[in-house]
Amino acid sequence: MRKKERYQHLIEYFTHNFPEPETELAYGNAYELILAVVLSAQCTDKRVNLVTPALYEQFPTPQHLAAATPEEIYPFIKSISYPNNKAKHLAGLGKMLVEQFNAEVPSSVEELQKLPGVGRKTANVIASVVYNQPAMAVDTHVFRVSKRLGLVTQNAHTPLEVEKQLMAYIPKEVVPKAHHWLILHGRYICVARKPKCAVCPLTHFCKFYQTHWPNMLDDPENRLG
Ligand code: SF4
Repeated sequence: MRKKERYQHLIEYFTHNFPEPETELAYGNAYELILAVVLSAQCTDKRVNLVTPALYEQFPTPQHLAAATPEEIYPFIKSISYPNNKAKHLAGLGKMLVEQFNAEVPSSVEELQKLPGVGRKTANVIASVVYNQPAMAVDTHVFRVSKRLGLVTQNAHTPLEVEKQLMAYIPKEVVPKAHHWLILHGRYICVARKPKCAVCPLTHFCKFYQTHWPNMLDDPENRLG
């Protein structure tokens, strides 16, 4: 199957079955989402969602966050990964939003990346989720699923290479949704250690499945019926 056809199958399936995918991070506005996405690095969305209600309440605006020290932020995020670094990032992020961006979350990927703790992936998430821009955030799930499905070449070694290849094939207006489709598929079906091919609806165009399936039948978890 040609790569272009794989993309067509992917978009057809998800457009029909999952037309309005959303992030699983809890947030109410752009400012809250950027805090949540910074906290979600190397951490699950579920765990982030446990700490953000109190964080949002204590620091409801960029001005509140800008006035806080990392030590004051730390107790609210101490149960997630890398709390010391993330407390520093959030304090710096609040200050920069107030001092350089008029307390607004910028919309361009370039400006977003100037904020402490915000790399290309986080910037793409904000641009895509908040501003509905055609920005593809490549996290570990998107990276893995894109390769397994055969959407990108096996020699795409970095998130940026995967991002560029996905962007070359996915129509701009579909990119924000495709980001969620690939993340959620990777989180729940095409999991890292043992992809759940037996219950996956994408087998008819998945390159990994078509290459490995005969051998995978040796695994009892993958036997149908
Ligand atoms: S068929 Fe298997 S490898 Fe392919 S996308 Fe589905 S779960 Fe992942």
